[in-house]
Amino acid sequence: MKKTALVAGAGGFIGGHLVKRLKKEGYWVRGVDLKHHEFSPTKADDFVIGDLRDVATCNRVMDRAFDEVYQLAADMGGAGFVFTGKNDAVVLHNSASINLNMLEAAKNTKIKKIFYSSSACIYPKHNQLDPNNPKCSEDSAYPASPDSEYGWEKLFSERLYMAYHRNYGMDIRIARFHNIFGEEGTWRGGREKAPAALCRKVAETKDGGTSEMWGDGKQTRSFLYITECLEGVSRLMKSDFAGPVNIGSDEMVTINDLAKMIMGVAGKNLQIKHVEGPLGVRGRNSDNKLIREKLGWAPMCSLKTGLEKTYPWIEAQVKLGRTASKQV
Ligand code: NAD
Repeated sequence: MKKTALVAGAGGFIGGHLVKRLKKEGYWVRGVDLKHHEFSPTKADDFVIGDLRDVATCNRVMDRAFDEVYQLAADMGGAGFVFTGKNDAVVLHNSASINLNMLEAAKNTKIKKIFYSSSACIYPKHNQLDPNNPKCSEDSAYPASPDSEYGWEKLFSERLYMAYHRNYGMDIRIARFHNIFGEEGTWRGGREKAPAALCRKVAETKDGGTSEMWGDGKQTRSFLYITECLEGVSRLMKSDFAGPVNIGSDEMVTINDLAKMIMGVAGKNLQIKHVEGPLGVRGRNSDNKLIREKLGWAPMCSLKTGLEKTYPWIEAQVKLGRTASKQV
């Protein structure tokens, strides 16, 4: 019998890629999202447009005992969306409602296994002040002090999934994603993250021109290419380990380094103008000790390899946008 999976957030970046992967693996897949995928038609067998803040929608999409549920739906975005403070109430309310409803529906339908996508944003701010030495091991999450409401909601929801496991015996898996990037991700509009935003700026700017960057560019991060993220999720689902576990790259770079790498891939040399903007913590990197220990695997793909696939896709989107606006 075909395995069945429900992907919540299937109209988004990671959810869209996950549906494709599950279909290749032979699953029967239902996707659910507020919207259709922006960049490619879904490969899901069934795609429901619905609002998961509404408990009736959660019950409706979980009308059978799926083998696997992947809960990726969240109100999220890059620094421009989560670190300005302007969307705090919306982020907390929307994402917490989705998780509360999804778990209750999953409990009632006797879902076999449920995956929850948490985030590196749950880690305490005070451990990420030194850009050269951030601490993001899984056991450093407490005492908790995330630097955004987005991080607090993720931490609350991790606890919610763990409580459903404890009290109702629900089989759960929790991963803390660290900056996932790749083709078919948000690249403009204010919710895009650093790699996509910088790829877009480089693609939009002529060789030798000037492009803006938020902050001094000395803050550090790591970025994980989408296929590696999905490999980690798949391995976690097949393992006996519930998590939470980091799924991220441990190739830490400064944002200035990231920009240089993208320019290298694009074959351009731009001047960077540093401007004020929302930034997040000073340093962050994935600590991959636990994932190696529990899954005998950790992401290996280099940042450059991922950018070599992502940049041409964003460059093509920029060109498409120009052509479309000329035609109007
Ligand atoms: P995304 O924004 O592309 O996808 C999230 C999807 O959820 C969107 O398509 C959105 O429409 C949908 N959604 C939001 N509210 C909904 C609602 N009320 N009902 C139904 N659908 C709703 O984001 P993504 O990058 O694909 O991230 C997927 C998950 O991984 C999110 O939970 C995110 O917090 C988590 N995560 C992502 C990253 C990353 O770097 N991309 C890092 C850490 C954690």
